[in-house]
Amino acid sequence: MRAIIVGAGITGPVTAMALQKAGIDAVVHEAYDRTADGVGAYLNLAPNGLAALRVLDIDPHDLGGFDTPALELRGSGGRLLAHLAMGRDDGPGTVSQTVRRSDLYTRLRDEAVRRGIPVEYGKRLVDAAAVPGGGAVASFADGSTAEGDLLVGADGLHSRTRTILDPGCPPPRYTGLLNTGGYASGVSVDAREGVFTMIFGRRAFFAYVQRAPGDVWWFANVPRARAASDDELASWTPDRWRAELERLFADDAGPALELIAATPRVISPWNTLDLPKVPVWHRGPIGLVGDAAHGISPTSGQGASLSIEDGVLLARLLRDHGDPTAAFGAFEALRRGRVEKLIAQAKRTSNQKIPNPLTRVLRDRVILPLVSRAAARSTKDWVTDYRIDWDAPADRLPA
Ligand SMILES: Cc1cc2nc3c(=O)[nH]c(=O)nc-3n(C[C@H](O)[C@H](O)[C@H](O)COP(=O)(O)OP(=O)(O)OC[C@H]3O[C@@H](n4cnc5c(N)ncnc54)[C@H](O)[C@@H]3O)c2cc1C
Repeated sequence: MRAIIVGAGITGPVTAMALQKAGIDAVVHEAYDRTADGVGAYLNLAPNGLAALRVLDIDPHDLGGFDTPALELRGSGGRLLAHLAMGRDDGPGTVSQTVRRSDLYTRLRDEAVRRGIPVEYGKRLVDAAAVPGGGAVASFADGSTAEGDLLVGADGLHSRTRTILDPGCPPPRYTGLLNTGGYASGVSVDAREGVFTMIFGRRAFFAYVQRAPGDVWWFANVPRARAASDDELASWTPDRWRAELERLFADDAGPALELIAATPRVISPWNTLDLPKVPVWHRGPIGLVGDAAHGISPTSGQGASLSIEDGVLLARLLRDHGDPTAAFGAFEALRRGRVEKLIAQAKRTSNQKIPNPLTRVLRDRVILPLVSRAAARSTKDWVTDYRIDWDAPADRLPA
């Protein structure tokens, strides 16, 4: 079998490497030219995503991130509300990693290329169709085409493959928060290295983690009732945006103001989006994986990890079924329940970040203590303990 993969973000290269392990050739097609954006957001790779990478013999420590074993939730006055582990810390590579998106993209692509997988740049998918008699053909904006036995749409939250499969599919949903962040240097904070501190501020949510002394990564979620238009986002010049963040965090405990001041370039705000339900995941030999099928709010810390799980599981199913249509059907049957449950959970958690005097008391006095106690007691976590056994019998694959 030969696969056309659309998108060289996180899911595309991972899927290609997993297909190679399954004995299936793939070519990855990416819309953009090869540019490594050195500055940008960072993300969390959770133990479930790290475990899926290990199926492909990728050591999570080679991805440029750092261990993030726990997080603490605090109120605007500094009171500790909850302490949560991010993995079990029972061996190297078993706790969450925090990694710049650009590092993760670049390293996964480079590893795919090192393994002999072609990655073609400047290939923006405009159309795709099943070929009578079997296979799929992709058409790109530069006028070229590619043919294969199947097409995997790994083209992200604004997937073109998704609208080709279902022109009426709902667009991504705005979750009520703007996102921003930055990398502060030369400033120290009173927190253990790698432990995230997250503060439910009076007006907005602030989080930071010390990677090494003097090197602190932070993000902020700013509530906003409706999504900002492109013009509104562009109107936030770096100086205006910095001043707005200083205003938002002026009355909260914690080092937000110091960190913002010590950040050479605050990342411009963007709307936080998710995709609660994508009605059509596949048709014939064309199917979706990653954010294209199930964009999730970054609050979950799971977008990248779910995407990596997708790539590994789809490849295993293609190996087992030998037929793309059957494999995409089995993939949806195993995946839809898990990802939609997590997207809904992430949206509820996101809502908690929007300051509300009525729900604050419930959150701080009931919900978070309960979550904290349940997490400390639990021996198995349905999100982070998810594992794909490459060799297990088909009926033992996790849902
Ligand atoms: C700022 C930010 C912070 C995040 N924080 C977290 C976090 O903390 N934890 C976490 O797990 N997840 C986080 N996420 C989500 C995570 O980045 C995504 O879940 C993950 O990148 C999904 O990977 P993907 O490959 O499916 O999509 P993407 O990474 O979006 O990659 C899609 C690729 O497809 C390409 N493409 C798009 N259209 C076409 C086309 N028509 N033709 C060809 N190529 C195309 C794009 O250029 C891109 O390279 C965050 C996301 C953002 C935006």
